[in-house]
Amino acid sequence: MDEGQVLDLAPNVKTFKRALYSPNTASVDPRQVCAALKEDLLKAGVEIIFNTKYLGHSGQTVKTNQGELEAGKIINCAGLYADKIAGDFGFGKKYTMIPFKGLYLKYAKNKTDVNINVYPVPNLKILFWACTTPRP
Ligand SMILES: Cc1cc2nc3c(=O)[nH]c(=O)nc-3n(C[C@H](O)[C@H](O)[C@H](O)COP(=O)(O)OP(=O)(O)OC[C@H]3O[C@@H](n4cnc5c(N)ncnc54)[C@H](O)[C@@H]3O)c2cc1C
Repeated sequence: MDEGQVLDLAPNVKTFKRALYSPNTASVDPRQVCAALKEDLLKAGVEIIFNTKYLGHSGQTVKTNQGELEAGKIINCAGLYADKIAGDFGFGKKYTMIPFKGLYLKYAKNKTDVNINVYPVPNLKILFWACTTPRP
């Protein structure tokens, strides 16, 4: 929607010309989601090993800072580092993740002022200014 439509719905939104209005988006507490997921996985017999860093692999043996793990299947879900790990396994070598730093801004006035999910969009002319330098 355009800026005028957005401001009618959510007068506190700051955006650049347009915004995404998502009436079907739900808001959840990510801690509760993770806690419920953990509970379900533990019940299903999954062992969760925390604080374990992927360092490399040799075939199906994954090297970590806690020793080696044998894997039947390996699911790479390392977020912004997933491209590096995929590359280790020979996948997606021509792709690089372009990271964006996200910040939460807390609106501290009335809670009732913010009651819809609306996503401001950036000015595309300055969107990639921080990404012109390749990652080390
Ligand atoms: C400030 C902010 C606000 C956001 N708000 C929202 C929102 O409101 N709604 C929404 O839908 N999304 C939101 N997002 C986006 C959302 O957080 C991400 O899209 C989502 O977390 C990506 O999930 P993921 O599992 O792919 O990666 P991540 O959540 O980044 O998880 C990757 C994990 O891999 C681990 N890891 C990395 N390298 C290694 C390694 N070598 N060995 C072992 N582990 C490793 C990391 O420590 C991390 O725990 C927000 C993001 C930010 C930054």
